[in-house]
Amino acid sequence: MSTTPLRPYNFSAGPAVLPEAVLRTAAAEMLDWHGSGMGVMEMSHRGKEFTAIHAAAEQDLRDLLAVPANFRILFMQGGGLGENAIVPMNLSRGGMVDVVVTGSWSKKSLKEAGRYADALAVASNEADHHTSLPAPATWALRDGAAYVHVCSNETIDGVEMGELPDLAALGSRAPLVVDCSSHILSRTIDWSRVGLAFAGAQKNIGPAGVTLVFVREDLLGHALSICPSAFDYKTVADNGSMFNTPPTYGIYIAGLVFQWLKSQGGVAEMERRAIAKADLLYGYLDNNGGFYRNRVATQARSRMNVPFFLADDALNDAFLSGAKDAGLLQLKGHKSVGGMRASIYNAMPLEGVQALVNYMQDFARRHG
Ligand SMILES: *Cc1c(COP(=O)(O)O)cnc(C)c1O
Repeated sequence: MSTTPLRPYNFSAGPAVLPEAVLRTAAAEMLDWHGSGMGVMEMSHRGKEFTAIHAAAEQDLRDLLAVPANFRILFMQGGGLGENAIVPMNLSRGGMVDVVVTGSWSKKSLKEAGRYADALAVASNEADHHTSLPAPATWALRDGAAYVHVCSNETIDGVEMGELPDLAALGSRAPLVVDCSSHILSRTIDWSRVGLAFAGAQKNIGPAGVTLVFVREDLLGHALSICPSAFDYKTVADNGSMFNTPPTYGIYIAGLVFQWLKSQGGVAEMERRAIAKADLLYGYLDNNGGFYRNRVATQARSRMNVPFFLADDALNDAFLSGAKDAGLLQLKGHKSVGGMRASIYNAMPLEGVQALVNYMQDFARRHG
């Protein structure tokens, strides 16, 4: 019987909730990892202890996402915004980069790629305020583009691609680059459609500071000469992510999360839970008499990030402070969108979403 008090449910978009079991393990191992006499933060990244932590994390990640052997997995620094520059420096060869704009993050990617290459929005949902997904058949892909960039889950706008585009079927030979920062490990990835995928860790994996890159081997070795060595994927890959000191503690926590995911049933189980959580929340948002609503087209709705609005904006502050008192944290929407946002990542249990819906019902009753 545990006497530990329940922690509040944390709906932050990122840095975000982590599995409590992972935090407890990290706390227990803080001063002495596995009898080594050292905490993980204090270890050489080239020593046998950390080498084992890194190798296990990489293998577990490869297993969880069924990453094929011709993809290298890199643990880098720089975050998603860093990758917005690192990808074009490595893949564009200074040529054309096609970007599909589906929300705030892909817009940032477009802008940054434009500093290194001829970047163009080949499709955009800007006209409807990023609440839909432009059908791949309508994308104005350019012949000879170095790559096509998509963000498969728009964290701010709450728009998610149900499946990755099949560029070959659209007549393109360009590799697909996917920013999957905010829904990685919540669903499977069809690697046959991907050239490179990246994800900052702080949404669904671990602490800020680690960036995961999955890159097909044939795309290595074409970096622009201005690319810093520490950001040249070939250099990073050739050195097993140890060209420079990697974010060791973040890799350790990510590794604990990967072990936790395996113990829970892996990505298939996370997807099953994500569907159940999203169904519960959207079900309520669509059937509450108009007090709350989500504006994203049904087929484009994210299972991870759910923006929603109160019909009366003047109640926002009362909603948020009442939520906090009820043990429901960080529900304020992104400043560019307003309203509320509930991020319901892998570490958020169904009970947390049920507690949110219960609170929303109660609040609507009191203020309706
Ligand atoms: C959070 C996020 C990023 C940016 O991450 P930083 O670590 O702040 O650079 C990029 N893309 C997506 C989809 C994100 O959710």
